[in-house]
Amino acid sequence: MSTRESTDLPSPEALAPAKPADGIVTCDACPVLCRIRPGKTGACDRYGNSDGKLTRLEPLVVLERTLEQDGKLVPFLGERWNGAMLRDGASFVTGIGAGTTYPDYKPAPFIVSSSIDGVDMITVVTEGIFSYCGLKLKIDTDRYLGPEQAAVRVKGEQIGHVTTAEYGSQMLSVGGVHHLTGGSKKEGVITCEAMLALCAKQPVEMTIDGGATVIVQAGQAPIIDGAREERMRVGCGSATIGIFAQQWHGHADEVIVVDDHITGVLSEHQAGRFLDMRPAGIRVRGRKSTPGRYFQVADPGTGWGGTDVTDPLSIIERIDPKAARPGMRLLMVSTTGEHAAWFVLDELLVPRAAEMPAAIRVVVERIGENCEPALCSVLFMAGAGGSLRAGVTENPVRLTRSVRAEITRVTSGGAPVYVWPGGGITYMVDVTTMPERSFGYVPTPALVAPLEFTVPLDAYRAMGGHVEHVRRLDTLRGEARVEARDWPAVNPWPLR
Ligand code: SF4
Repeated sequence: MSTRESTDLPSPEALAPAKPADGIVTCDACPVLCRIRPGKTGACDRYGNSDGKLTRLEPLVVLERTLEQDGKLVPFLGERWNGAMLRDGASFVTGIGAGTTYPDYKPAPFIVSSSIDGVDMITVVTEGIFSYCGLKLKIDTDRYLGPEQAAVRVKGEQIGHVTTAEYGSQMLSVGGVHHLTGGSKKEGVITCEAMLALCAKQPVEMTIDGGATVIVQAGQAPIIDGAREERMRVGCGSATIGIFAQQWHGHADEVIVVDDHITGVLSEHQAGRFLDMRPAGIRVRGRKSTPGRYFQVADPGTGWGGTDVTDPLSIIERIDPKAARPGMRLLMVSTTGEHAAWFVLDELLVPRAAEMPAAIRVVVERIGENCEPALCSVLFMAGAGGSLRAGVTENPVRLTRSVRAEITRVTSGGAPVYVWPGGGITYMVDVTTMPERSFGYVPTPALVAPLEFTVPLDAYRAMGGHVEHVRRLDTLRGEARVEARDWPAVNPWPLR
């Protein structure tokens, strides 16, 4: 089954009930309602017609761990497992490969019970189809990626925008319902493809209007305008002064830490005053915030400390002869230690480049040592508070309340999620914590993501759950469609 049917939405004629003689089956797992001929797959490649039966093509993924509760993984001898080892408390059925029941008035595809320490637990699994979903990208760099609100593009189509920078990181917001379904068809398709690639931990190159070209890959260093980012800054300029002031004291008369956010000046800073340092009289450009802390010393860029500075002396506005003196020693350094220069003031109080003393170089290197590796983080965010809940319970608001009360645990492919406060079940999950091949798509376009709701049986019954559709875990034994994978030990075990 390798040939897919048309990806276009079907005509009204095509939606007519299939004649059994055709052997065609209609997939009702999403609104596209593909009519699939024998031996073919639907538009998303998730479902196929296998001997006249609608079949979910990927296996249902079950995560396994040892019973010792010590985090050791169950060995599978490298072979695909047929479900023979399913055990209460050691096997967790994920939504990966579970399929979707659409429309959602049907119970979820798998509602599985297992006994945990004498308590019957229910795990309801499904593959959610999300138009309302997006990605939050955290890119550890001080380099300028583009102005806030600027368009983020892939192949010329806008897939998102630059949002508020965070400490040591630039943030992009990608996807969302407006790019998936609110623009042109091409915009929706490219947005969906880019999101899917990012969720699959693949690299995606994006350009930012008025800014940089960046390659983003979950768990990897960003590549900005062709340069791989190595380090995340140790802190802003002021924080760097605070951390290293003691180590510079006695070896330098002034230290200026160049930073796009706050440039720090040691002798004026609280840390320098604490050390009884004399004011050096070197005034940097920009707007003084508080003593020794300056905003806007330069424009943002890809130079020193996320500014456009390539010559550090260019940010010195003046040197006050009443405070400065010949022979004064000045260190200028960036917040990653990647850029550093040593100067000594001459008789005319002009800073002259000189060889950096070993005691200073050690501290500059220590700035670099204290920087964490720069990484890209990709968080998938979606709303599971809509009709999907009807697959769990006939009274959906009770599921929402149960999640809010932390009676029902939500996971995505077994990975922990953060559920936002307020209405709905709006969750976020780090894609690097999820098993491989967790995500899919449908051509509406929308992303498909696994979801599991785990709840004690009594609470499930009380919320109006579909208890008549509960099946014991061991009934999955022997099903060819089940594939076991090692539980990722970085995640908390969901059946607690
Ligand atoms: S796109 Fe996929 S899920 Fe949707 S109807 Fe077609 S085969 Fe089924």
